[in-house]
Amino acid sequence: MTPEHYFHLLTGKFEPEARSDHVPDFGYSPLNKSGMLYQPVIDVEYVRAGHSKPAWPDDKPFVVCLTHDVDAVSDFDLMQNIRIITKILKTSSNRPLGESLRRIVEHKISALRGLLGHSDNLCKFEKWMDVEQEVGSRSTFFFAPQFVKQVHRSDCMYRYDQIIDYRQEKLSVAEVMQSMDRGGWEIGLHPSWHAHADLNELVFQKEQIEKTLDHSIQSVRQHFLKYDPLKTHKIQSQAGFKYDSTMGYNDNLGFRRGTSYPHQCFDVEQTQPLPLLQIPLVIQDGAILAPGKGMRLDPQKAVEYIMHLTHEVKAVGGVLSLSWHPHTMNRPAYFDVYSQVLKLLAAENPWFATVGEVGDWWLKHADINLVEFTRGISR
Ligand SMILES: [Zn+2]
Repeated sequence: MTPEHYFHLLTGKFEPEARSDHVPDFGYSPLNKSGMLYQPVIDVEYVRAGHSKPAWPDDKPFVVCLTHDVDAVSDFDLMQNIRIITKILKTSSNRPLGESLRRIVEHKISALRGLLGHSDNLCKFEKWMDVEQEVGSRSTFFFAPQFVKQVHRSDCMYRYDQIIDYRQEKLSVAEVMQSMDRGGWEIGLHPSWHAHADLNELVFQKEQIEKTLDHSIQSVRQHFLKYDPLKTHKIQSQAGFKYDSTMGYNDNLGFRRGTSYPHQCFDVEQTQPLPLLQIPLVIQDGAILAPGKGMRLDPQKAVEYIMHLTHEVKAVGGVLSLSWHPHTMNRPAYFDVYSQVLKLLAAENPWFATVGEVGDWWLKHADINLVEFTRGISR
């Protein structure tokens, strides 16, 4: 891959075609072939061409954008387990019978534990928030909708009236979202599987969060990063989102579109930019730590990779965005790596900002148009 290809890389022409029941992008990038995935090659080219790096508040050299995809909030909630068992029964033809039975038994046991009064600490949201506050940061929590019109087996199953433990209190998920919102954390939408290509579904889901918070929201990241290069960004902008952070990997890390800079998403069919800013996702917890996923790193190696990418982003003054799933609290390596990395990142003196804060700053202050820049060097 050479700079003449960067326009197509940035605007999504190299993205694999969407397939209805797959996320075809688990680790694929044309940058892999040339060993360039772990460097923001477009930003490097931009700086090499003599342009100034992005300017950030207080002259900070780069940005760290912390995010969480809230796929689950509790294990033991009775009604949630009943909903999940119903869904498993309805979709049992999609999987081996043994697997369906095993999962039904698991969820029955979870429901029983809840009935027996076992304390449900799946996420411990406050622990994630406190460790962020210790380094002076806030993050974006992408919550799933509680109601989905066209259901997929991968969709999240919690409701906003579900009661969870939060700071020694029993609060509903809605109250936790409101508390985060008041504290300066950002709440965004984590749309269901089919919402990636369905404007009505996406609007329906966005309104659920907005009603809960009593104000509009700006940011979105698709569940599973499920994405159609021809549709998703277009309907996200039509639904009224300003910022998307879906362009990352489930089974790899690095710069999927060759950049760490925020940039306008592109309508590939109409060949024009959309009023939607992409804040690329660079590192996701499961992709590097989960035993069944792409990289399968041990915690120490994971920290090394993260810091390698941090230095790449810092060198071009870009945005390092990370996604950590709160429901991994029961898997100690996840929280340990996160808290260790936050301290290492803080020592690099970044501006810690939510997706919304990065986007707002960029729209107001940045004079960098990567679509135009890459178009210029592609001629
Ligand atoms: Zn998700």
